[in-house]
Amino acid sequence: MKKTFPFLLVFSLLLGACGSQTGSETVFTENNGIKISVSIASIQWLVDLIGAEHVQTQSLTTSGDDPHTYEPTPAQMIAMAASDLYFTAGVEFEAVWLPKFTDANSDLKVVDISEGINRIPVADLHGSVGDEHEGLDPHIWLAPENMRLIANNIAATLETMDPENAADYQLNLADVLAKIVEVDRQLSQMLSQTQRRQFLIIHPSLGYFAQAYGLQMVPVEVDGQEPSPTELADILAASKTYAFNTLFFQTGTNPVNVQMLAQQAGIDKIVEIDPMTYDWAANMLSIGESLQAALN
Ligand SMILES: [Zn+2]
Repeated sequence: MKKTFPFLLVFSLLLGACGSQTGSETVFTENNGIKISVSIASIQWLVDLIGAEHVQTQSLTTSGDDPHTYEPTPAQMIAMAASDLYFTAGVEFEAVWLPKFTDANSDLKVVDISEGINRIPVADLHGSVGDEHEGLDPHIWLAPENMRLIANNIAATLETMDPENAADYQLNLADVLAKIVEVDRQLSQMLSQTQRRQFLIIHPSLGYFAQAYGLQMVPVEVDGQEPSPTELADILAASKTYAFNTLFFQTGTNPVNVQMLAQQAGIDKIVEIDPMTYDWAANMLSIGESLQAALN
């Protein structure tokens, strides 16, 4: 928890005015706004922008959390019991927890915001997609095209639940879509002309991002596990082939382990990226800058 404190602090400073918070300290206030729980902080960012003063939100996960193994806190469960609406993104922990959320709150309306998104399998070392049993990539929010679809799904849900404020949701949606288009434009510009197209990353969170900009993600993890000795040998060989100079790792990973792997692969730079942060636009551009630097 300690490592996420500065992020929580920033969030509560930014969001204090509308009663929204991220992480375990969320308490919904008694007003008429729609109380909404989401699984991913970047989705909360979207809901806050589209719903504005008509909603209160909590995100179950934030920077440093691992949505593959996450468990909600008691405070989050209390807020869940008071929620009107839950936006599911289809991340792993929801498969286990969603039935418990609806058990605890029979009035909870559950909406899948990933509807319309074309989910892709997680790419392996060789860029080919994995076997079917490996499941599909859950990191849907890390690509502008997907965020556009998610934003439309969120706005449509809010308009249906609260038709009185439909005009506000439409206006806010238009603003956020313009923001997403601008992020996409800047990322295309940053990443279209890089010398290299492959990048090495511990946890394969950037599959949709890579697909959007014609890059190839080479993940170290295989099916969410550390690589076997054979797989590791493959990765070290690929590292030579592609002349990687950077190893990407995600917030929450122990940098000492990352540094050791980088040394083994002859890579001198490790760069942290955060797939779980609140401010999606700033985060996407920061990931883009890191990739641009690594690929040139
Ligand atoms: Zn992940």
